[in-house]
Amino acid sequence: MRSTKAIISLAAIKHNLTVLKSLAPSSKVVVVIKANAYGHGAVEVARYLKDEVCFGVAIIDEALELRKAGIDASILVLEGALGSDELDLALDNDLELVVQNSQQLQKILDKAADYSGNKKLNVWLKFNSGMNRLGFASSDYLSIYQQLAECSLVAKITAISHLACADNINDPTTQAQLDQFKLVTKDLPVEKSFANSAGIIAWPEVHFDWIRPGLALYGCSPMAGNMTGESHNLKPAMTLVSKLISIRKVSKGVAVGYSCGWVAERDTRIGVVAIGYADGYPRHISQGSPVLINGKRYSVVGSVCMDMLTVDLGVDDTIELDDKVILWGEGLPLDEVAKNANTIPHTLMCAVTSRVKYEWLDD
Ligand SMILES: *Cc1c(COP(=O)(O)O)cnc(C)c1O
Repeated sequence: MRSTKAIISLAAIKHNLTVLKSLAPSSKVVVVIKANAYGHGAVEVARYLKDEVCFGVAIIDEALELRKAGIDASILVLEGALGSDELDLALDNDLELVVQNSQQLQKILDKAADYSGNKKLNVWLKFNSGMNRLGFASSDYLSIYQQLAECSLVAKITAISHLACADNINDPTTQAQLDQFKLVTKDLPVEKSFANSAGIIAWPEVHFDWIRPGLALYGCSPMAGNMTGESHNLKPAMTLVSKLISIRKVSKGVAVGYSCGWVAERDTRIGVVAIGYADGYPRHISQGSPVLINGKRYSVVGSVCMDMLTVDLGVDDTIELDDKVILWGEGLPLDEVAKNANTIPHTLMCAVTSRVKYEWLDD
């Protein structure tokens, strides 16, 4: 078996969930496992967290995959029903739907008119509090709520909105969004949901009845700046590992890799690691970004290739062929690697490809 692996600590995910619950002790949780649990394996994560009451996914297909795997908790589809048959699929499979545009609303009302089945739908009515992506405006929200409340197909309505700038504690947008959300829902007899990971960690007033953690579950910081998951007492869920498949001496002045992209400034040793951009390691990582070998950091140098990357091992000759290399995770925060790749941790988690072997550990 190839030694380039994503090792997923299910126990770390559970630990992170416990930390987030302790920050919002009165809230229930929509455990967000869209995009294959941000690259961690949605079915495996849902099976491990089998006592959770609700999972969140982006699209119907993700929900159906969980149902097929035997997950019988509530599943909330965050974009709602999109294709023409998705409302039927949602009813048949007991999925909960966000209603975020008027076509989705109309389909539910139309369906109710000629529905003879015995299923009911839980809907999460999306309010546009300032993200300006999905959801209804203040001016329409109450009348749409009323139509859903009177709809025979609808069992329960929950008010939902999404934060745009919660990662920055100095941004006034969050308070403005909160004011809007409170105002529009103040007379409605509904449960409310507002907080993503950053909202849970940094904005206690947005917790309401249901928190919706994603990124923080997987151990990274949702906050802007240079924080890591560890600063919130979160543990890394994914450790991406590979090994050294070549070590060679290069003399001062010798170029390494495509385009002769890096030139040794001193005599050194170059280690070749069996992972590249075809595995999901970012090609645009900055020169000098660290990897971890035997607990010590070494710099990525030269260009990241499709299947390999090169690191400067220096003259330290304690390192040997086949030694394990950690690209991110245990001991090397993904938050930091993402910064070096000029991106956010979400993109790197999601980008690990199917060529990488997955191992799920539950202790
Ligand atoms: C993805 C998503 C979340 C989780 O967001 P994180 O920032 O990863 O915690 C919560 N709510 C909605 C509607 C989402 O789409």
